[in-house]
Amino acid sequence: TTSAPEPDCLFCLIVAGEVPATIVARTENVVAFEDINPSAPMHVLVVPTTHHGDVSQLAAAAPDVLAELVGVAEQVAGERADGQFRLIFNSGPHAGQTVFHVHAHVLGGTQLGALVG
Ligand code: 5GP
Ligand code: ZN
Repeated sequence: TTSAPEPDCLFCLIVAGEVPATIVARTENVVAFEDINPSAPMHVLVVPTTHHGDVSQLAAAAPDVLAELVGVAEQVAGERADGQFRLIFNSGPHAGQTVFHVHAHVLGGTQLGALVG
């Protein structure tokens, strides 16, 4: 884990504005943007502006930023859904993580089904 921008990291590039994304919220330490391939009526990704590989690394390095990220997820769900949301962190390839810059999936806007693999 590191907090320095990684030039080949897709989400570092989105944070920097060098790859386009539909930004829906931004705070000092967190950026939220629409997932390019949504799985629900609301499917937003929330990322720290600093680079950390996964949620455990973020929690260890900057727990305050993790809490800020959860707060932004709640705010986005209040604006774009009914305030209720599912928050998912995939951690590692077997969990389905494909972008190794920690991100929360914020899902909602419909009745979600049970979690399946
Ligand atoms: P993961 O599988 O790592 O948990 O989630 C990665 C997410 O990033 C996927 O839901 C995927 O649709 C999304 N994604 C991948 N590339 C892009 C992109 O270029 N822009 C946006 N907005 N989302 C992306
Ligand atoms: Zn990154």
